[in-house]
Amino acid sequence: EPSPLTITDISQGQKIAFIGCGNMAKAIINGLVASGWPAKQIIASNPSNDKLIPLANQLAIATTNNNLEAAGFADIIILAVKPQKLTQVCQQLAKVDLSKKLLISVAAGYKSEKIAEHLGQTPPIIRAMPNTPAFIQCGASGLFATSQVNEQHKNITVSIFEAVGKISWVSAESHMDVVTAIAGSSPAYIFLMMQAMIEQAVELGLEQQQAFTLVTQAVSGAAQLAQATPEKSLDTLRKEVTSPGGTTAAAITSLIGNQFESIVKQAVTASVKRGQELG
Ligand code: NAD
Repeated sequence: EPSPLTITDISQGQKIAFIGCGNMAKAIINGLVASGWPAKQIIASNPSNDKLIPLANQLAIATTNNNLEAAGFADIIILAVKPQKLTQVCQQLAKVDLSKKLLISVAAGYKSEKIAEHLGQTPPIIRAMPNTPAFIQCGASGLFATSQVNEQHKNITVSIFEAVGKISWVSAESHMDVVTAIAGSSPAYIFLMMQAMIEQAVELGLEQQQAFTLVTQAVSGAAQLAQATPEKSLDTLRKEVTSPGGTTAAAITSLIGNQFESIVKQAVTASVKRGQELG
């Protein structure tokens, strides 16, 4: 019986450079190394050393302050700077021959066409929208491939982002703004909701630590239950918690009465709109 492929086989000796090493790059690098991606095939570039030193020490990846050095080293270049910094970075990378490399941008909103324009060349570009739970390999990433991208590029991109969680391809670049609103950014909405529940529990007498444990476990459990029982709609799952006239019903009535669903939908739309502006 052939032994199953390991991540080392899948990585095929491909070298990855992260341009910009902030929260998102750190989360992906941690997930990659934790799932067995060879650290010696990863380099991270950042202007300041404070972000790089812990990564070099803890994960034994290569680091540099020189984006061009990182880009030259790699087969796959992951652009992980803020959208506002991406034009400058692309203009700098214009000096590198990218024809045999794959570019992956995780920047919110920034269109692939604009990346190519500032690079002055049209390498294969994939836009990826991950989220910070990638740090613990529980990420959710949307992916979009431009027309220069081939099957091999897609496969290697899937192995990178599956190493840090679940992936989903979208067929239109405009859908990436929606992916950003519901997955890239949404952990923040959930953190805000958990914080409000914890604060109110403490106000009503629970210990902070106790409330934290219960709230985070309830949210995690709800998401896992929804994933484990796809045959049940979210509506059904909610009704199973809600006896008529009971405690849950009181809370749901309060949420609906205060336009909870409409508030959440408005937040998603605001995020999509901001993505379009960053474009
Ligand atoms: P961050 O500010 O934590 O990281 C950006 C890093 O880029 C910083 O360390 C900064 O020093 C570095 N940098 C600045 N200028 C640079 C340059 N010229 N060359 C190289 N590095 C440079 O931001 P982040 O949250 O990691 O976000 C990075 C990108 O990831 C953004 O485009 C964002 O849209 C995207 N993203 C973030 C999340 C998230 O949850 N944070 C999720 C999905 C996508």
